[in-house]
Amino acid sequence: MPMSSDRLVNAIRNPERPTVSVEFFPPKDERAAEIMLHTARTLQPLGIDFASITYGAGGTSRDTTVAYGSKLIEMGFPLVGHLTCVGHSREELLSIIQQYDAAGFSGILALRGDPPKGQTSFTPHPLGFSHAIELVQLIQQEHRGRFAIGVAGFPENHPEATDTPSDIRYLSQKVAAGADFVTTQLFLDNADYFRFVEAARSAGVGVPILPGVLPVLSLKQARNFCGFCKARIPDALTQELEACGDNEEAQRRVGVSWAHRQIRELLEKGAPGVHLYILNKSESAVEVLSALRA
Ligand SMILES: Cc1cc2nc3c(=O)[nH]c(=O)nc-3n(C[C@H](O)[C@H](O)[C@H](O)COP(=O)(O)OP(=O)(O)OC[C@H]3O[C@@H](n4cnc5c(N)ncnc54)[C@H](O)[C@@H]3O)c2cc1C
Repeated sequence: MPMSSDRLVNAIRNPERPTVSVEFFPPKDERAAEIMLHTARTLQPLGIDFASITYGAGGTSRDTTVAYGSKLIEMGFPLVGHLTCVGHSREELLSIIQQYDAAGFSGILALRGDPPKGQTSFTPHPLGFSHAIELVQLIQQEHRGRFAIGVAGFPENHPEATDTPSDIRYLSQKVAAGADFVTTQLFLDNADYFRFVEAARSAGVGVPILPGVLPVLSLKQARNFCGFCKARIPDALTQELEACGDNEEAQRRVGVSWAHRQIRELLEKGAPGVHLYILNKSESAVEVLSALRA
């Protein structure tokens, strides 16, 4: 029985314990699917509050979000499906939301999406939406109360934002339109998150803001990933990773230790939980979660 949107929202709002969510992406082939499902089975018993599954992120398939989301639900995860406006009319978005409904998704992370590869700016579908807020409004109009609604937040500003005040204002509008929680882009310096939360609270954003944390696997991966998301790698982390030389396992352990320290400080200073970017891999996620429990 899928978790109701109310229960999921209550779990995210629960001040008694931190919310832990993990993000999967739909695998490309059978081998990748085995790895993802193995990761899901490994993490499932660890008290994860919800899993989320991406939609077309970084050029991955959009057709398999429902299929793999359904598998995660079967395993017992309350599930938040990401959804973007890229290339979709309003009617197509409604049809996908209906599929999420039928599959038992508990929530939707309502996103605009990035311009497709090769395009520099976002062009909306002629019968679609220009900004994530319109998707939040659509879900509210057509399925009020059926889904917990999340939106994206950017501790280091969205890459297209002209300035911080306008980026925060648009975030507060998404929340006022009906978002129940915010999940942030990954960041590696907690100061960025705390500054962002303070600005969001000043702008009237009252919902939980789940910090997005990536246990870095290597310097190369961090540079790729952070380059794509426009997230800054602190010098101290670069130095720790460089000190490992070519030893990939040593670099992974640095990533786990950094993420663990990051999350511990986030929770100590009042973050409502953590959203882990696990990249469908279990090892670092298990180590980070075990270290937190200990
Ligand atoms: C947690 C998380 C999960 C993600 N998952 C996915 C995924 O599954 N698939 C995927 O393709 N991408 C994903 N992304 C990336 C995301 O789609 C991109 O970062 C996208 O560029 C912005 O999406 P948004 O929902 O924040 O857009 P919006 O909120 O629409 O903001 C986009 C830009 O427009 C500005 N803006 C917002 N509202 C207005 C307005 N009313 N008028 C003028 N300007 C406005 C904002 O300041 C910002 O610069 C994810 C991002 C995060 C943080």
